[in-house]
Amino acid sequence: MASAPLTYRVGDLEVSVISDGEFRLDGGAMYGMVPKVRWDPVDPADDRNRVRLGMNCLLVRGPGYAALLETGIGRDWGGDWDDRYGILHPPSVEDSLRAVGVAPAEVTHAFCTHLHFDHAGGLPHLPGARLVTQRGELDALRAPPAYHKASYARRPFAEDRALLLDGDAEPLPGIRVRRTGGHTRDHQVIFVESKGETLLFFGDLVPTVHHVPPLWTMAYDLSPMDVIDAKKDLLDRAAGEGWWVHFYHDHDPRPARIVREGKLFAARRGTP
Ligand SMILES: [Zn+2]
Repeated sequence: MASAPLTYRVGDLEVSVISDGEFRLDGGAMYGMVPKVRWDPVDPADDRNRVRLGMNCLLVRGPGYAALLETGIGRDWGGDWDDRYGILHPPSVEDSLRAVGVAPAEVTHAFCTHLHFDHAGGLPHLPGARLVTQRGELDALRAPPAYHKASYARRPFAEDRALLLDGDAEPLPGIRVRRTGGHTRDHQVIFVESKGETLLFFGDLVPTVHHVPPLWTMAYDLSPMDVIDAKKDLLDRAAGEGWWVHFYHDHDPRPARIVREGKLFAARRGTP
């Protein structure tokens, strides 16, 4: 397994990057209407036209809680899934948690931006965690819209203990969510805030650093115009207010700061 997980502080909160390895998705689908001649040089496709995606969850340790933001893709999907999606462990979420001294059963809350399988697939491996997501996401998992039927693949977890939100909320001190929609109808982004510092967890609103340009959306997005509007608003505020931002599907586990470049935005890596 790789080096020790990156750990840093946001005010009084301790944040650790918890990797669940990587998987692969079709590059054309990941970059939507962006032509391959634009995306392939920065994110090269494999011989099946797939791009490699990391899954970097964040463990946030605060007063009385150990909350995981996203849960990874999990394992034991069976069939040809590991091959089709190029799922590669280790590390797994469980490995990465143990590497920062946390047993998987000690995770108290699992925040999911949405319940697609590469974000919620690890829920069965976190037996003590309460899922925290928008109510509409659990509805979508139980009766997936036709457009996202494959993405809402599900496996059993403690659905009855979920904390279901109806819009913006602060379910734990220092962890706040904003419903953005766009990628899915009820996608939410997550803010980690303490002592005037802010870290924004984009989920699939901005899945990788390559998706920072607002028009670089995914074919998987249910409502691309809503994605573009929410991205512009949040990137603008991140640049203006000096927030750190985290990209779940990147390979680089470090957060970044957003800077304005003319009418566009760029990401500068660093560590709080
Ligand atoms: Zn995803």
